[in-house]
Amino acid sequence: MTSQTSIKTLLILGASGDLTGRLLLPGLARLVSRGRADGLTLVGAGSDDWAADRWLERLEESFADANSQADSAGKQELKRIRQSTSYHQLDVTADGQLAGLLATLEGPVAVYFALPPRISQLACEALKPDQVPAGTRLVMEKPFGSSEDSARHLNQTLAALVPEDHIHRVDHFLGKATVLNILGLRFANAFLEPVWNRRYVEKVEIVFDEDLALEGRARYYDGAGALRDMIQSHLLQIMALMAIEPPASVDERDLRDAVATVLRASSIKAPFAKSTRRARYTAGTVDGRKVPDYAREDGVDASRGTETLAEVEVEIDNWRWQGVPFILRSGKALANTRKEAVVTFRPVPHLPKGFTGVDAPNQLRIGFGPDTLQFDVDVNGPGDVLSLDRATLGAELSASALLPYGEVLEGVLAGDPLLSVRADTAEDCWRILEPVLKAWGRGSAPLEEYAAGSDGPEGWPA
Ligand code: NDP
Repeated sequence: MTSQTSIKTLLILGASGDLTGRLLLPGLARLVSRGRADGLTLVGAGSDDWAADRWLERLEESFADANSQADSAGKQELKRIRQSTSYHQLDVTADGQLAGLLATLEGPVAVYFALPPRISQLACEALKPDQVPAGTRLVMEKPFGSSEDSARHLNQTLAALVPEDHIHRVDHFLGKATVLNILGLRFANAFLEPVWNRRYVEKVEIVFDEDLALEGRARYYDGAGALRDMIQSHLLQIMALMAIEPPASVDERDLRDAVATVLRASSIKAPFAKSTRRARYTAGTVDGRKVPDYAREDGVDASRGTETLAEVEVEIDNWRWQGVPFILRSGKALANTRKEAVVTFRPVPHLPKGFTGVDAPNQLRIGFGPDTLQFDVDVNGPGDVLSLDRATLGAELSASALLPYGEVLEGVLAGDPLLSVRADTAEDCWRILEPVLKAWGRGSAPLEEYAAGSDGPEGWPA
């Protein structure tokens, strides 16, 4: 069961950081301006000695977009937040500093760790259970740990402070609308369930290709790479939603149990030179923009061999999915942005003699952001009715009025961890990928190359 509490204070640690300015505050502003965070007080904290004005300027800037679209009640609420906010300088890793601030805030408080992962870990270790008031929620950003062991260690640290359902491990990629769109499609349509299994499905692909390159994020990205950055967290979550058994409800317990069950059955099998691929982009042109060689970008250590494109084949060893490959792929600086899950069905067992023209299996495509649905079917084409043609049935799925981080914060403020990654799942996602990371470290799969603006290395499917 979710414990519904109404958070009174949102404390953002890392108030001067990139995440806070670019994503968190605009997400919060949208929420506030729609009357969905009434009575909330916002508090910022950082290691810099910011004057109150500097924090206010940051709010002004980040709230501008929501403010321009808000009605008068929304504008009033945004103003109230700005008037009641405060900024505090502290070193969250120093004994007693975060605890001291927590003690002065009106509870229940949600503490958002918008900090480098190592600092978040140290900040939690510096807190003692009796310094964390009842009802406090802890919001942790990705990456959650860097291995199964470190994720477990972080989980143990957090579990000593608050109950599991007060811990929000953020996965901002899947907004609530997208999660519910997948579940609605899968479980509200009787015709899909009988074919959603190994007998009828040939493969499932989950792809997040982007045309964006490094964009100055070497400090973070070069230590992570595509496998850790996208597949370890976001794409495994989508895979789980595509593969779960029907839950009894969309309550956090039923849903997160189902997700955990399917991930426990998932693994990437050796030989990794066959089940995984990795590549790094070289100089090229994306949409008319010149993109430099990744290895020569500022802040990149080429000898690390960080991949900017990764593909893995996950197997789900259970009754429904045995033998069906789930192919997860994500890359940067590619020709086209593509964010979708594609279910490819097996061909019909027998096509009546006389028909011609059919050459592709049925595919169901779920696009993410904007959420769309496309179903490719073979129909009798124009002209010769014996010649089969491809037709695509399409629909736009419902969108949320909130930004992804607005949805994250709404879940936090309402005490609903539905969208957050549960402790066991956070560890399991590392367990699935760790053998690959180790094998790549040993050079078991070659680091291939592709020109920025291409579809990927030669020989990879487009
Ligand atoms: P930044 O490096 O931009 O910001 C980190 C913040 O932490 C700064 O405000 C910094 O303050 C503060 N900080 C560092 N050390 C301390 C300390 N000892 N005490 C108090 N404050 C401290 O990082 P990001 O904002 O990019 O990332 C934050 C988290 O969000 C990371 O876990 C990242 O992986 C995750 N994330 C980021 C995304 C993004 O697009 N930026 C996207 C998804 C997740 P100061 O500047 O004063 O030192």
